[in-house]
Formats: sequence, structure tokens, C-alpha cells
Amino acid sequence: MLGNVGKGLAVALAVIAGSACSAPVDQPAILIISIDSLRADKLHVYGDPRELSPHMDRLAGESTRFTQARSSSPWTTPSVMTLFTGLAPPSHHVDNNDRGLSPHVTLLAERLHDAGYRTGAVMPAVTLADHFGFDRGFDSFVLDAQGHDGISGPWSVQRAVEFLRGGEGPFFLYVHLWDVHYNYEAPSPYAARFEAGRAPGPGETDGIPRLIKRFRLADEAEPLPDDRVAWLEGQYAAEILYTDEQVGLLLHELERLGRTQNTIVVLTGDHGEAFQEHLVLGHTVHLYDEMVHVPLMVRWPGRVRGGAVSDTPVGLIDLTPTLLDLAGVAHHASAFEGRSLVPELMGEVSSVSPPTDGLLLSTSRRGRVRGLWTPEWAYIYDFIQERAELYDLAADPGQQVNLVAQRPEEAELWRRRLCERLAALPPGGEIDVVPLSQATREALDAGFAQLGYTAGPRRRPPREIQDPAEERRAFLDELACDSAAPAAQTHDQKDEQTDGR
Ligand SMILES: [Zn+2]
Repeated sequence: MLGNVGKGLAVALAVIAGSACSAPVDQPAILIISIDSLRADKLHVYGDPRELSPHMDRLAGESTRFTQARSSSPWTTPSVMTLFTGLAPPSHHVDNNDRGLSPHVTLLAERLHDAGYRTGAVMPAVTLADHFGFDRGFDSFVLDAQGHDGISGPWSVQRAVEFLRGGEGPFFLYVHLWDVHYNYEAPSPYAARFEAGRAPGPGETDGIPRLIKRFRLADEAEPLPDDRVAWLEGQYAAEILYTDEQVGLLLHELERLGRTQNTIVVLTGDHGEAFQEHLVLGHTVHLYDEMVHVPLMVRWPGRVRGGAVSDTPVGLIDLTPTLLDLAGVAHHASAFEGRSLVPELMGEVSSVSPPTDGLLLSTSRRGRVRGLWTPEWAYIYDFIQERAELYDLAADPGQQVNLVAQRPEEAELWRRRLCERLAALPPGGEIDVVPLSQATREALDAGFAQLGYTAGPRRRPPREIQDPAEERRAFLDELACDSAAPAAQTHDQKDEQTDGR
């Protein structure tokens, strides 16, 4: 239980997910490496001039690499649940610390387990606790809810290697690597290579968590000086370089075991990280690109096109249907809101069609900010501040000029589209929620607080509605979806924009 949250306390849960048949031995294995807080543009292969990611860059060269991949949320829990279910956060509802996944939703691991796969997950963070439903379908679910005051990559890789060595036949292994998540405490040889900017001196702060928390939560905080942001970004870069070596070790072990050829390897990030592009540091609170643009590469030697680069807009929401298709595991595509990318991965089409009204994005804490993203436009609605934002991404990729006032017709069109998306029920109808007990919530709260996820004093608490249909109606009402008029007054996007998470 989460009473055990803390450094070095590993909790291994053996999960029996029903009787399984054996998968054919030639069925591909699946390895997902998900790196917490890894934004795409910090990898060399995605354009960063520094070479922080030689192993990931090499993997990208052997993979189909997606340049326009987005997570559905800037926070781990809803983002990874979307990856595991093929459902957007407003559909699976696992976007706060008080509820878990409905038993009526089948996760990727459950489907693969039922198809005869040996399944394992390595989860180094409380945000991926079994209480949310993440353990379902895994034969081996290793949770070590680590804080920030340490290095967890070697622990995760060791657990992953033990799983890889633990059996024959097709496997599904999900490995979450946690070190890139703040506080950016890479081992000293790595940290020392990135001494840009100015480190916090004694007495200035009590460390990065406070630094980040302060500038994420404070309502009237001054922006952090550029030299301090540069130092933080340098330490983040050091964590990427360090984590890249851990990725290299894991891929090397796969090779040593002779499993490279028939293993589908997916590498991605669960969300990005902000360095004050929009006045905030860290993640969870906004849907700007620095928080949701993630790397995504898929390798399967001889099967998936290697060395291909795709500009198709895709999401982590597409991974479950894609992987089931690649593995030849029967499923109904209509069970998912994501779509299979297999025709493009196999080179049958040059690009799979993107959703015409964009990818639905949603923040943590029950989606207090929601939006639609396409490569051309981003529309974002903040339900707390009742503020709409519209960005022309071709002209303004940094999302700095809010066009809601200048382009009212376009903004209204996107508001209607967001209304339609939020009104649409998930496949099969409304999905229920599993409210977590008070004791579990308190344990999760304590774990989250340890990570710096603490509600600010002036933030509105998340809505307490537990009925998904009622919650859906409340969002539609707040967006004035029954009205033809714009829902909200508009504000300049430089307005105060901080949040509790
Ligand atoms: Zn995360």
C-alpha cells in the first residue's frame, strides 16, 4: 500500500489476470520505454544541437519516428492511462487522485495477457500506482514510489532486465524512467557538464522543488530570472543524457538476449516540461506544446519502416490500437478513440488520416484546462479562469499570440468543435469511475506532495462530482455549448495563468 511510499521500498505485486492461452512463439514481443517529462525538442534527433541522446537517436534511426506526437495530458497519470486504454482523459476519467479506472475498460496489458503474453511493468512513481488500475493485466507489476532525492534509472533498468531474463516467448514490458522528472538531480559527472546559468545559492531557495513550486503556484510571482531558468534547463539536459545511457543499457540487454529482431520497441515521453515559455516551470497545468509535444519512435526490424520520419499528427492515444494490430491480437477498433498507425508504419500508406477536429487534450485535476490541437491550430479553454486561447501554429509555433479577439469566427468554430468532442460519449457509452477510499486518497496525496504536486492556496479545488455524466454536463454548461455566443470573455494570454497542479 502507499503507506510504504518512500525511497527504496519496492512493492512487487503478482497479478493473475485470468487464464491465458499461449501466444505463438513467433508473435512479436513489445517493449515500451516511457521517459517522464521528456519533451521532444531536447533530443538531438528532434533538433537540439547538443547531443544529449545518442542511444535514443540511434533507436530513432532504426524506427519510424513521429515528429508531431502529443500526449493527451501534461501529467503522468491521465497520460499513461490514455496510452494503456486508447481513450482520452475525459473518457477514462483517471485524471485526479480520487478515482481509478472502471473495471469495464480493458487495458492493453489485459488484452496482451489474454493473448498469451508474459506481461510486466516497472513503475518508479506514485503517479502510476496500482490504485488507479495501472496494474491490471500485468503478471509482474513492480511499483517503487520514489521521490526526487535520488536516482532511479538503474533500479528501473535492473527490474526490467530481470523481467526480460525471466521467461521465453512473447512478452509485453512497460518501463517508465523517472529521472528526467524534476528535481533534475543527475549524477555529478553529468550535472557538471551542464553548468549554464546560475544555480540557487544558499539561502536563496531550499532547492529545486521549492523553486519550481513557487513559480508554478504563486499568483503574483515574478518570472524567474533567465540565468536561473538556464541553470534548471541545463540540469534537465543532464538528466536526459544520463537517462539516455539507461536506455542504451536496456536495449543492449535486449540485443544480448537475442530478442531485438522480434521485439517492437516504442520509445516516448509521458508529457513535456516547461521552462517558463508561458511563465511557468514544470508541467501538469497547461496544454502548450512544451508540456505535450513528446518524442515517439517505433522499431520492429524488417517490419516497421526503419529510418522513416513521419509528420503525421499522432498521439499516445494511438498506441494501444497500433500495438494490438502489430501483434495481430484481435480487437474491435471501435473500442478506442485513438486509431491504428499500422498502415503508415508498414509503408502501406504515406500518412494515416488525422482526426479532422484535432487531438483532444486535457490537464490533470479533472481537466480544468481542455483543448484541441492540430498542426495548424491549437484551441485551449481554461475552465477555472473562463478563458479561451487560439493559436495559429504555422505563424506562431511558440503559442505566444492569442488570436481569440482577432479571429472571433475561427475561435467560435473551435469552441463548437470542443463542445462536440466533450459531448461525445466514449465508445460503448459513458464509462463509470471507481472512487478511491479516503485512506487511499490521503496516501496518494502524501505521495504527490512529496513530488511537489501541492495545491496552491488560491486555487479552486477540483470539482467533487463523481458521476461522469453529470461532470460531462457541467463542462458543457461552462463552455456554454447550448449557446451560439462565445462562452467567455477573452483575456490577453499573458494574464496570470498559474494553477495548483
Ligand atoms: Zn510524468
